[in-house]
Amino acid sequence: MKMVEYERSLQWVGHLHCPSCRQDNIGWRSSGMSEAFPHFYCSQCSNVFLNRKAQELVYYEATPELLAQIAATLPACPCGGHFTPTAGPKCRWCHHEIPLVRNPVQHLQNPNMVLLDGACLIRDEGEPYQVHIIG
Ligand SMILES: [Zn+2]
Ligand SMILES: [Zn+2]
Repeated sequence: MKMVEYERSLQWVGHLHCPSCRQDNIGWRSSGMSEAFPHFYCSQCSNVFLNRKAQELVYYEATPELLAQIAATLPACPCGGHFTPTAGPKCRWCHHEIPLVRNPVQHLQNPNMVLLDGACLIRDEGEPYQVHIIG
């Protein structure tokens, strides 16, 4: 798989705190201008699915009906898990899910996509890639 490297010093590289073990997970977060929505995390790992084709459905409003409609089309993850509207990234230290998605309907319009170090971005449009934080 293609790899994308981000320098640790970049503005969009930061730490996602795990409320379970209280350690930090380094990762990259897309900006509010990125329009990286809707995106969904895997039930088993920290991979993310970016569903660009569904963006026009939720651009102006997100509803439970639209969530159900989109959720029915989400693919399986290469790890064997499944992309779901309620999953969050997993802590690399204790493997607990980090609760980033508090409201799955509102999350449909959330452009701040978190790709932890080593996670893959799977897209309905474009090649997948794996993120590495370096430096
Ligand atoms: Zn943890
Ligand atoms: Zn997965």
